[in-house]
Amino acid sequence: MEKILCGVDLGGTKLSAGLVNGAGQIIDKKIVYDHTAQSEDGIVKYITELVRQLLESNKVKEEDLIGIGVGFPGHVRYRDGYTITTSNLKGFKNYPLRDSIAKNFSVPVKLDNDANAQAFCEYKFGAGRGYEDLIFLTISTGIGAGIILNGKVFRGITGTAGEFGHTIVDLNSEFTCTCGNRGCLMGIACGLSLPQRFKSKIEKGVPTKLPV
Ligand SMILES: [Zn+2]
Repeated sequence: MEKILCGVDLGGTKLSAGLVNGAGQIIDKKIVYDHTAQSEDGIVKYITELVRQLLESNKVKEEDLIGIGVGFPGHVRYRDGYTITTSNLKGFKNYPLRDSIAKNFSVPVKLDNDANAQAFCEYKFGAGRGYEDLIFLTISTGIGAGIILNGKVFRGITGTAGEFGHTIVDLNSEFTCTCGNRGCLMGIACGLSLPQRFKSKIEKGVPTKLPV
């Protein structure tokens, strides 16, 4: 059987897992939205279950996998697979996410920042094909970027290159970011900040067609 890959995208809103062939085509995927209230260990268990379900329903054996790649919505120490911090999920401060997942499987597990993983995917299979240098921007629950230089993910000295979502862009902003600061780009423009902005406008009497 052709060797395949398993990708897991642990997001601040959704958790998805997919099986992918060598050409980058998705064979099957599962998406859930009820993971965010769980603890770190609960999320590890959930990821393990999702991957096992995918393998089973597609009749794929674990040994047919090349490995499992996990994208995390926050700062990651790539070399030892620890999450450093995230403002998109509860917890995950210095948490050994890679090895916690790896102990449930017999194939290699890699953990990276989600924007880095997405940047590499665009470089390999998507809009970045044919280019050796590119920047991928993600504007989702949070905001971040992945950087590819000379065909490799650029991580920088601290491993957090491209994590620009908490750059303060408006010193007078009324919106508090999930990091606690005011005026972060994320605090103004990402998915998490939209309800705050909506509430503020409604309170100021801005008309809306939405039922409030
Ligand atoms: Zn912030």
